[in-house]
Amino acid sequence: MRHVYEFTAGESTPDVEKLLAREVGGAPVPDRLRHLFQQALAHFESLATRAAIVAETSADAFVQIYRGEGLNAPSAPLDVIIPRAQRLALFAATVGDAASAEIGILFGRGEPAAGYALDIIASEATNMLADAAALRFLRLQQARRAVGEDARVLPYSPGYCGWHVSGQRSLFEALQPGAIGITLSHSFLMRPLKSVSGVLVAGPPPAHRFKPTYDFCEDCTTHECRGRMASVLRAPR
Ligand code: SF4
Repeated sequence: MRHVYEFTAGESTPDVEKLLAREVGGAPVPDRLRHLFQQALAHFESLATRAAIVAETSADAFVQIYRGEGLNAPSAPLDVIIPRAQRLALFAATVGDAASAEIGILFGRGEPAAGYALDIIASEATNMLADAAALRFLRLQQARRAVGEDARVLPYSPGYCGWHVSGQRSLFEALQPGAIGITLSHSFLMRPLKSVSGVLVAGPPPAHRFKPTYDFCEDCTTHECRGRMASVLRAPR
């Protein structure tokens, strides 16, 4: 089954203070920087739209999609996570073309600071949309009693953690996110730029756990998986 969702600002509005703390790495936040980010958030809200498309899929069908162009790492987290999943769905979400395009316009107009702040805010809002889509999918599966009360849903995307970005092609063919205005270039770049896509995996918290000791982990700068694995131990919000 395929669902198109629209989201309110409240479901994916970045916390400016959290973003600022990340920017300054624990140092005091200069007033000028706080003002820049607050302005960027207001600008973002004046431009953003928020939509996602979610299409349920079977494990067998997903394995074919995941295989993609055959360029994935020989071993990757989804190899162990998918067999443990209770329900799967393909998804794509976007904050829309106006907010995405405005970043380039600001840089082009010689306003790099404003462009940078808008870029950070739009990226965070896009990631939050993936989480919002995951929560809708979880609630739907719980209402159907297809997953347990303790189930958690996490999004996984091509281009990360061993899933080659070329996997976008088979993902887009199966999902058809053009329905919410997302297209894919020959180089696997999504338009609008501030879009996210991948698979939503529903399962009990241990289903999402793995050891991040793959070859590609040596080049990882974020180690985001640690926070994601910790998040499944908390109640979903
Ligand atoms: S360490 Fe980095 S590359 Fe490895 S699984 Fe975690 S997030 Fe992915």
